Amino acid sequence: MVDQPFENSKRSDSSQAQAQPITVQPAPPRKNVSIQKPDSSSGGKKPGKNHIYVRETEGKVETTRRVLGFVLMALFAALPWLTWNGEQAILFNIIDQRFRIFGMTLWPQDLTILAWIFMISAFALFLVTTLFGRVWCGFTCPQTTWTFIFMWFERKIEGSRHQRMKLDERKMDADKFWRKFAKHAAWIIVALLTAMTFVGYFTDIRTLFTDFWFLQSSAWATGSVLFFTFATYGNAGWMREIMCTHMCPYARFQAAMFDKDTYIVAYDVERGEPRGPRKRKVDPATIGKGDCIDCNLCVQVCPTGIDIRNGLQYECINCGACIDACDDVMEKMGYPKKLISFTTQSRLEGGETKVFRFKSVGYGLALLALTALLVADILLRVPLEFDVIRDRNTLYRENQEGWIENVYTLRVINKTQEVQTYRVNVQGIEDMQLQGITEIQLAPEMTETIPVTIAVDPYFLEQPLVEINFTIEAIDDGRIRKTVKTNFIYQ
Ligand code: SF4
Ligand code: SF4
Repeated sequence: MVDQPFENSKRSDSSQAQAQPITVQPAPPRKNVSIQKPDSSSGGKKPGKNHIYVRETEGKVETTRRVLGFVLMALFAALPWLTWNGEQAILFNIIDQRFRIFGMTLWPQDLTILAWIFMISAFALFLVTTLFGRVWCGFTCPQTTWTFIFMWFERKIEGSRHQRMKLDERKMDADKFWRKFAKHAAWIIVALLTAMTFVGYFTDIRTLFTDFWFLQSSAWATGSVLFFTFATYGNAGWMREIMCTHMCPYARFQAAMFDKDTYIVAYDVERGEPRGPRKRKVDPATIGKGDCIDCNLCVQVCPTGIDIRNGLQYECINCGACIDACDDVMEKMGYPKKLISFTTQSRLEGGETKVFRFKSVGYGLALLALTALLVADILLRVPLEFDVIRDRNTLYRENQEGWIENVYTLRVINKTQEVQTYRVNVQGIEDMQLQGITEIQLAPEMTETIPVTIAVDPYFLEQPLVEINFTIEAIDDGRIRKTVKTNFIYQ
């Protein structure tokens, strides 16, 4: 249901100029029902203004988006507050260069895992877009989700589409002032909480939420919160569809993933045309018209202000608001629903939609392969970093017993979230001695460097350079083990 009483006889927007002549004419052949070039109609904008006054809509699609949006919002808000082993479960600590994800800590050396995750996300998006079009944009993209939240506040404070248009035409008075003030205050509070939650993924969120209000948080945390508050307020409050149509690169290249079996929001031209107003319950066949009564509600509910009857346009974010609006109209007229629907070009042309096709299978296989690589990388990952650095100042030295010594620095990083005790040993030359600390205890996510010396009886040194292996192993877990090759130099 839309937010205003149903009217079917007047057109209030610029689509009046685009409407077909109301004459009896044969329906267009099905081959004309196709993806058309972008159309730049002014859609739901008020004539002479750039602002789009979006009309509220209710229906199955809107309910689905609200439920999904609520779940995603709840996840976004809750995840940084979860703890794991007493620590923040998800923390992307950029300053200390370590990402903590539910008990696993990723270091810069683990970038391959992050690379797999990014590639999997990209191919998942490609696959979903190929199958279902821009559902990401319409149902899950933060820009859409926050825009719909901001529009909800706008409606609650300033009223329906018609009331908002009247309010904006009016000169400033006390009522207009408090409504504008309340709306922007609500937007800023939502933007601030969003920014604090987002920054809480990158710093200790509990500390941030207390320190920020007392001006105690660090300069970068404060700056980041203010920046993201401004960005959220600007993007969801002011920019809205401009972000989708002019700034988001995905809107531009997603067409490359579309084919005739991709689900899109489409208007059934054959059924709808010729459009035109008529009394309720009138059989369109008796007046030589299609099912579209040209009420323009599909345009008024569109957040990007387009007229879906002009064909698929890159501005369409697949939100489905026009489906709900039109279904409501069809119900009231006593006509079948789905004059506008999620469908495919194949189906509009009378054929069947194919799920398995070259693109979707290719993306699916790539997704499977990348997921397998990610799982393998995680399973084979050893949560320990071990480097051996030879002393470059002195190649070797001779001790009082006449043995040859080489000096090394061992660098150990405990990448687990538990305290670990490691034992170091070395192999490669008979009777060699490892002098220095050979057992080391490290707190979670700590780094330590230890100097050690290797001493060898020259009797066993047949060559001036011999390869040796340092091995480090966690005493409590034999799987946490690494071996590093280096050289022992004599002469
Ligand atoms: S497509 Fe549906 S909502 Fe849009 S003008 Fe026609 S009848 Fe109205
Ligand atoms: S045309 Fe329909 S699906 Fe596309 S953005 Fe507008 S309301 Fe949403």
